[in-house]
Amino acid sequence: MSEQQPESFIRSSARIYLRLLGYVKTYWVAFAISILGFTIFASSQPAMAWMLKYFVDGLTEGSDALFFGIPLLWGFPLFIIAVAFYQGVGSYLGNYFLAKVSLSVVHDLRTNLFNNLLTLPNRYLDNHNSGHLVSRITFNTTMVTGAATDAIKVVFREGMTVIFLFGYLLWMNWKLTLVLMAILPVIGLMVTSASKKFRKQSKKIQTAMGDVTHVSSETITGYRVVRSFGGEEYERERFNTASEANRDRGLKMTRTGAVFTPSLQLVTYSAMAVVMFLVLFLRGDATAGDLVSYITAAGLLPKPIRQLSEVSANIQKGIAAAENIFEQLDEEPEVDHGTVERERVEGRVEVRNLSFSYPGTDKQVLEDINFTVEPGQMVALVGRSGSGKSTLASLIPRFYHHAAGKILIDGVDVEDYRLRNLRKHIALVTQHVTLFNDSIARNIAYGDLADAPREAIEAAAEAAYASEFIGKLPKGLDTLVGENGVLLSGGQRQRLAIARALLKDAPILILDEATSALDTESERHIQAALDRVMQGRTTLVIAHRLSTIEKADVIMVMDQGRIVEQGSHAELLARNGYYARLHSMQFQDETTSA
Ligand code: ATP
Ligand code: MG
Repeated sequence: MSEQQPESFIRSSARIYLRLLGYVKTYWVAFAISILGFTIFASSQPAMAWMLKYFVDGLTEGSDALFFGIPLLWGFPLFIIAVAFYQGVGSYLGNYFLAKVSLSVVHDLRTNLFNNLLTLPNRYLDNHNSGHLVSRITFNTTMVTGAATDAIKVVFREGMTVIFLFGYLLWMNWKLTLVLMAILPVIGLMVTSASKKFRKQSKKIQTAMGDVTHVSSETITGYRVVRSFGGEEYERERFNTASEANRDRGLKMTRTGAVFTPSLQLVTYSAMAVVMFLVLFLRGDATAGDLVSYITAAGLLPKPIRQLSEVSANIQKGIAAAENIFEQLDEEPEVDHGTVERERVEGRVEVRNLSFSYPGTDKQVLEDINFTVEPGQMVALVGRSGSGKSTLASLIPRFYHHAAGKILIDGVDVEDYRLRNLRKHIALVTQHVTLFNDSIARNIAYGDLADAPREAIEAAAEAAYASEFIGKLPKGLDTLVGENGVLLSGGQRQRLAIARALLKDAPILILDEATSALDTESERHIQAALDRVMQGRTTLVIAHRLSTIEKADVIMVMDQGRIVEQGSHAELLARNGYYARLHSMQFQDETTSA
């Protein structure tokens, strides 16, 4: 998109606006009614000027002159009321139905945007900050309302008014009117140049608004860190800068408009002045009524022209917002070319020559990984922080696309499964527990599990060793947990996440540091529960505390993206290598800290 040449600017505006209007198509009936309404409204505009001709001529001829066959004395007032009524009906139809269209379009855009967010790849969400994504949904869509409601309203209502007035003027005296029309190209040029500025400034305002949202949400969610590390001053500064940038950019935009409107008025009135001069100078054989009527109609022009030109700011705001919205809508959704669907897999997981680096980075996070897990086996991943354990786990449900190597579930490449079906077979407890601001029961029975019977939820909570603390809460399973579960302890949140995974009853269970926040006793209990639920399902456990994974069928030790050792606990200890070193270090820690 280049902004150098006016043609390409106009073309890009038109392209975005047309796409926006594509959303209007669904509501074309309401749209047509509203246009009819505004046409009715606008067509009444020259009526007053037209009447003046009879009024002035009537004054000179006497009040027994006829108007529509009725004496002027009665006909005139009646006509005024009729015109007001006619105009009122037009105004109602236009305003109401256009609002209906534009609010529906904004609703559609907003839901499209949100639904699109649900389909975007993890990479997109990793790389975009949530403040800007949120502000796109809340702020940018309302900017589009500006373009969709107010702008279309003004464009139609005032645009029609100008057309009708010009029509009337041409009919009255086309030569004079052509002089008046000479200003139109000048106005066009002025509007285009101002529009460019409006668009640029509006984009900056959006970014600044995103920053405001971003800083506030970060501070609100991280308030504990802010308070304990004395970050108040820093956050205050940061917020002030973002908000000030927003104010300054808004002010700049207003200044552009504030210079633009009077300049335009100057041009319009200059043209009027020329016409006035010509009227007085070449009076010809027109009656006083004709002249008054002409001048009145011409005098009605500057207001709609001013409103039309002012609307370009709104339109540009809307276009800039729509452009930003369409950018997201045009993002490729998560790739899902898979066709395989299985009711239930056995759970054999094979990883072949798998290498991976995060999109947009060139650091190899995983290098040539090979292993096989038989159905029902428990495999543990251990290794230093940053060695790639969570990354490996996240590739199994295809959170990221891997270019090199293969991951097979029951002999079928994960890429060949339909995405939703693939994820159905995997229950995942992530390293950072996510809870929703809802009741405990609804947090356990989330998503596809929403219809789970109460007993199943209770059983899952029991198995995750969560029943004990849930029973002590004021409303039990129906207690609300607060945003991301702030009203619970770290260990309680982990137990809910485990209960959620157990309720899913999937053949493949992945636990990423799922017990790290638990005390030794709870962990032992959960371990017992997990031993039970691990029966008949493939389990991948990632753990720092080696005591939790001693029973694993296979322990894989990772270092810098490679599997450096692999075997059972006893085998690895006997080998006296990497694992044995890790183990003795932890063992020492535990004995000294105990
Ligand atoms: P820990 O034990 O601390 O949880 P880990 O073994 O799970 O560590 P990973 O989370 O897999 O480690 O990270 C491996 C590497 O990948 C790290 O160097 C990290 O910087 C990088 N990394 C992790 N997530 C992303 C991401 N979304 N985008 C880019 N790089 C990432
Ligand atoms: Mg991790």
